Amino acid sequence: MDTVMLQKTAQTLRREAVRMVYEGKDGHPGPALSIADIVTVLFFQEMRLDPARPDWEDRDRFIISKGHACPIYYAALNERGYFQPKVEHFALRQLGSTFQGHPSMHSTVGVDMTSGSLGNGIAIASGMALAGRAQGKDYYVYCICGDGELQEGVCWEGANVAAGRQLDHLITFVDRNGWQSYKSIDETVGRNNPADRFRAFGWDVYEIDGHDMEAIHAAVEAAKTVKGKPHCIVCDCVKGKGVSFMEGDNAWHKGVPTDEQYATAMKELGGDD
Ligand SMILES: [Mg+2]
Repeated sequence: MDTVMLQKTAQTLRREAVRMVYEGKDGHPGPALSIADIVTVLFFQEMRLDPARPDWEDRDRFIISKGHACPIYYAALNERGYFQPKVEHFALRQLGSTFQGHPSMHSTVGVDMTSGSLGNGIAIASGMALAGRAQGKDYYVYCICGDGELQEGVCWEGANVAAGRQLDHLITFVDRNGWQSYKSIDETVGRNNPADRFRAFGWDVYEIDGHDMEAIHAAVEAAKTVKGKPHCIVCDCVKGKGVSFMEGDNAWHKGVPTDEQYATAMKELGGDD
């Protein structure tokens, strides 16, 4: 898929994510839109997947450690053909729905790991990468973390093991949007750069624009050439990216658009195409 098609696909996923929240009257649009471009590049360009065989042992693995951003994950799985028939209405966060507010590997086809309790992704991804090596597999494990959740200590326990065990088939993205649920990262823990910390732990680290498809692709390809280290791609992202009134407004960490706001969002995301 070329860059233009990837950008178009990302907008489709964004529309689906916002629609899901609007129809379900609950959810986290801002964090979902922040990682839309990373998720698009992974699911439509980088990852070795077969939607007809979600349990295929040689598939690349994916963990959305910031599980509350799952609307964009569900949209990607749907567009990629994991759900038959294609889902029209997700019933996001509704009792008994396949599409819970935090993803569950037990209820949703294509979800490799349950998440939502923040901080666990890197440690679990490290375990998956270790298991792959033990089984002689060459799959990659991709993980997306929020910059807020890096305050969880277990992230660094995982980072320590990944470096110590030289897990070069682990590629972690950090969605550096500068915000967490209620405040900015700066207000919460002060100024810090996750890239410096991952480097200090012995990781192979990149810093890129998280909305630049070609930069995301290039970073993944560069990471794959570096052996003996896990990889961290720190992505500068805008929370709510793509919808003007959501961009950079942390009120949209969790929130539901009004009818009017929904119409505006769809228009801005190219819903008239
Ligand atoms: Mg954040």
